[in-house]
Amino acid sequence: MQNGRVSSTPDLTRYAWLSIAAAVVTIALKTGAWALTGSVGLLSDAAESVVNLVAAVVALIALRVAALPATGKYPYGRTKAEYFSALLEGVMIFVAAAVILVTAVERIIHPRPLENLGIGLAVSVVAAVINGIVATVLLRVGRAHRSMTLEADGHHLMTDVVTSGGVLVGVGLVALTGWQVLDPLVAFGVGINIVITGSKLITDSTRGLLDITLPAEDNEAITRILRERTTPQTRFHGLQTRVSGRERHATVHVLVPDGWTVHRGHAFIEEVEEELRAAVPGLIVLSHLEPINDPASYEDIPTGHVEIHRVDSEDHHVSENPPENRAE
Ligand SMILES: [Zn+2]
Ligand SMILES: [Zn+2]
Repeated sequence: MQNGRVSSTPDLTRYAWLSIAAAVVTIALKTGAWALTGSVGLLSDAAESVVNLVAAVVALIALRVAALPATGKYPYGRTKAEYFSALLEGVMIFVAAAVILVTAVERIIHPRPLENLGIGLAVSVVAAVINGIVATVLLRVGRAHRSMTLEADGHHLMTDVVTSGGVLVGVGLVALTGWQVLDPLVAFGVGINIVITGSKLITDSTRGLLDITLPAEDNEAITRILRERTTPQTRFHGLQTRVSGRERHATVHVLVPDGWTVHRGHAFIEEVEEELRAAVPGLIVLSHLEPINDPASYEDIPTGHVEIHRVDSEDHHVSENPPENRAE
């Protein structure tokens, strides 16, 4: 077994710094506008950007911790640190959504004329453009490198953009129709949208913490190779795959003829592992070599495993039962 950890984890912390910079700039913009106008709305807007700053700093810490090398104390590394910041972002998004929903409902019940148009609106448009650009970068890099932390921070910033967009649309609709209730109605829709984003983040990071199996396309790439390598002499069973932050792991039992030397068996699993890593870059594979005719080899198949062969196929029975036990 070789370890793909070193080569497959480029440093992503500079993107957290980008997010920190965006938060600092938007805080400066909003407090500057507040100082000029004395508008309380702008001050609470600035408070929202402070939340972004806190989230970005937490993202930076999470990425730093996740990139720490494995040690005797943490033999598997600390890649799951990314899920903690993603969970926190999900919770922060929920709180933001709650504030928006409560305010919206309150304004639907007690309509009030809009305040803070003019400079307040202009500042939130500029802040939204900055957040929108940074969010797009974070989401793109986060997906490319499977970084939950960057994806979560990108989603968080994008909810701010959607919120500002909602304010603009609401103000525009009220200006067009004169119907005050449209503004809180749009805000309510924005709040619901943010709740959905927040719950997706919380669900995804919880699944990661619970060692969910790899995405279907990765499992398919792995099982395809194992099916291709299945012959009357060599079989596989008990495949388990899991994500751990940006890392992808697989464990599999490799069954080879009882008479093969350790040397030959090892050469075979090294070959298969190499193919798996070529198909799923950075995959960390651990294989367990077993004699194909020993019934004991078939008694250790983990309850939860990824099916290598289709359950209804002949190959499935072949891989789960020793040759003499075959029903066919
Ligand atoms: Zn080896
Ligand atoms: Zn086995």
